[in-house]
Amino acid sequence: MTNALKKIPAYTFLLCPTLIFFLYVHNYPNIFLENTLRSLLLSTSISFLFFTATYFIFKKNQHKAGFITLLIMVPVFSYGLIYELLESLFYKGLWPFSNIHRYLLLFLILIYTFLYFWVSRAKRSYRSITLPLNFFVLFIMFINGANLSYRIITKPVSVIKDQDFVSIKNNINDTFPDIYYIILDGYANDQTLKKFYNYPHNSLTLFLKQNGFYVATESRANYLVTSESLGSSLNHMYIDSVSKENPTKSSLIYKNEVSRYLKEHGYKIVHINSGYSVTRQNYYADETIYLKSLSEFERTLLRYTIFRLDDLLGYTQYNILKEQLSTIYELIKIKGPKFVFIHIVSPHPPYVCDADGNFKKSPPLINDWWEPKNDYVQQSKFVNRNIQNFITEVLLSSKIKPIILVQSDHGPWMKSHSLTGVYNARSLILNSYLVPDSWRNKLYNTITPVNSFPFIFNNLFKDSIPLLKDIPMDSIGMKRYRQTQEMIND
Ligand SMILES: [Zn+2]
Repeated sequence: MTNALKKIPAYTFLLCPTLIFFLYVHNYPNIFLENTLRSLLLSTSISFLFFTATYFIFKKNQHKAGFITLLIMVPVFSYGLIYELLESLFYKGLWPFSNIHRYLLLFLILIYTFLYFWVSRAKRSYRSITLPLNFFVLFIMFINGANLSYRIITKPVSVIKDQDFVSIKNNINDTFPDIYYIILDGYANDQTLKKFYNYPHNSLTLFLKQNGFYVATESRANYLVTSESLGSSLNHMYIDSVSKENPTKSSLIYKNEVSRYLKEHGYKIVHINSGYSVTRQNYYADETIYLKSLSEFERTLLRYTIFRLDDLLGYTQYNILKEQLSTIYELIKIKGPKFVFIHIVSPHPPYVCDADGNFKKSPPLINDWWEPKNDYVQQSKFVNRNIQNFITEVLLSSKIKPIILVQSDHGPWMKSHSLTGVYNARSLILNSYLVPDSWRNKLYNTITPVNSFPFIFNNLFKDSIPLLKDIPMDSIGMKRYRQTQEMIND
């Protein structure tokens, strides 16, 4: 065994599986093992290719070839990590260049040129490093394995996969309407579009009004980041105390009260994957539609490795968006009464398409807030058209007039000298309701998402869930702009 470990540079091939295994263990149980297979296959093939090439370049010296492959693979698989580090330094003012990819690529080329000359001139055989490196990688594997065992014992996966028994109270019949909850991530309020984005006549709100929606024009988000905002609206409560106790705010979304309540009332719960971890799954879902583009795990790898260069193109994000917008039509066909939750992570950046949905290389090399504003508007227009078409199709296909909520989780995070402007753009949202005519006059202009579902449930099931005070709030992302109340009154 030790003899083999001395002769074969196994670490070259074990490095990527070790890294992938590490990411898997650290995301357990939120990632399924099968989601890692494609990445495992790809990364091992890459190291195999590099190894074969260097093996023949360096006269069939497997030790030298193994070592060089390692040196090549380390930057390849840590590129995104270094990128993230530099980006955070940039925001703290400790790194001067916003154009991180350019400098990082230049640095890589220099490193590789240096390595090439250094190793090709070196006389040594690199025989002595194979054994320690093999042991090192095996040791990391062992640590990962131990860590996984510990996590399996303390956090059994069944907690996520098996549902609690939900007893069905009402015998719902076909006369109950389908409920669609559509979240457009970072969608701006009309006031914001008019004032800051030079887009005064938003086609979506116009369409919604023409189709009988009530648009609450003064509505604000209860929270200013996605996980908190959706965690709050999907549980119709303020989650300030919860988020302090429970670090995984996503679990409030995965296992939300709205789905539980509707399931209890005989609704079928339908979930479509957003491609983003925050709305990856719904614990109560009877049907989940997954996207094929990229698994959440693969997106993590994409972020931390050389594939981070996809930032320059935004092609992955573009594919996910397009796939999601075409897949939502499958939801209409599912027999109701059903609750359908759709989270579309757009017009949130990156800006990857024009108003017609053609792929557009995302221009900024760093997510420079949500700029440029015109790109935001172009992407919003694309989302508008798709949502309008989708709602038209839903209305045409539904036997009973459905209940539809179109909402943003928060507004855009734009650049402005006016902190009030920045805050208002982020806080004011799109919040619209298609409900039976007899309920419409009970809606009000300043309703916040925390009261959306109590309003629906009280009217639909004659329930008496108390409405909460509508309080727009500060949150982690806006800590710098803490004077909320003063700003609103400004
Ligand atoms: Zn969001």
